[in-house]
Amino acid sequence: MRRILILGGTTEARRLAERLGERRDVAATVSLAGRTRTPAAYPVPVRIGGFGGAQGLARYLTRERVDAIIDATHPYAAIISANAAAAAAATRIPLLALRRAPWTPLPADRWIEVADTAAAVDALGEAPRRVFLTLGKTELGMFARAPQHHYLVRSVEPVDPPLAVPHAAYVTGRGPFTEMDDRALLIAHTIDVIVAKNSGGTATYGKIAAARSLGLPIILLRRPALPEVPTVEAIEDVMIWLDHAVALRGV
Ligand code: NAP
Repeated sequence: MRRILILGGTTEARRLAERLGERRDVAATVSLAGRTRTPAAYPVPVRIGGFGGAQGLARYLTRERVDAIIDATHPYAAIISANAAAAAAATRIPLLALRRAPWTPLPADRWIEVADTAAAVDALGEAPRRVFLTLGKTELGMFARAPQHHYLVRSVEPVDPPLAVPHAAYVTGRGPFTEMDDRALLIAHTIDVIVAKNSGGTATYGKIAAARSLGLPIILLRRPALPEVPTVEAIEDVMIWLDHAVALRGV
């Protein structure tokens, strides 16, 4: 029985867990950071909370006799990915990253790519705008320094405490979001600019397509630098890697 640790918090991690949960030769565990109070259901055991840095993760891998790690975290979760690479190197446990390719702009897209959240706030400018924000809790706080804008915030769970600005509305949802629904949302709130991450995949592409059809600009946070580890985009390729690379290693 091979013991696989999936670093999760994404749709891909859940789908991979569903695939591995069906197999008798694999015992998979999903690890979540614990950011959401009601995480999605998984068909395999779930552990929740940080490991205590790369060293803590390495200790966990040894203690739990993990045979392989799949880093299926979000492309903006750069710290855990770096920790996974360091812990895998230290323990010599094979690591594969399952990561969505970034979206690339089409000719009609009006993307303004920025380095980070602070640059996104600056890119909104001084004049009041109606902004659709689809960022995480930690990034949202930075928009309090641009209180002149009207914000519509979409998040998985309610934003608590709310944004410290006079004009903010909130919608919750886990996705996937369709172009049609996102277009209706943008129109209903008379949004004139979107701030988002280049998450890749289909689940949150609706807003990108909707912005294109409405001619709206998108301020897109560039992806952070991630460790150079073997990476695939499809769950099928994870299955092949597990059956070949890990099996060849003799675990
Ligand atoms: P991060 O900045 O890369 O990681 C910060 C710390 O959180 C890590 O050092 C680790 O703590 C802990 N951590 C992160 N992911 C973990 C996991 N899967 N299992 C156990 N501990 C984990 O991560 P983040 O950007 O805050 O993202 C946190 C989680 O939310 C990830 O699982 C990610 O897949 C998911 N997520 C993130 C985003 C995003 O935009 N960043 C979007 C959707 C989902 P220790 O050092 O103590 O081990």
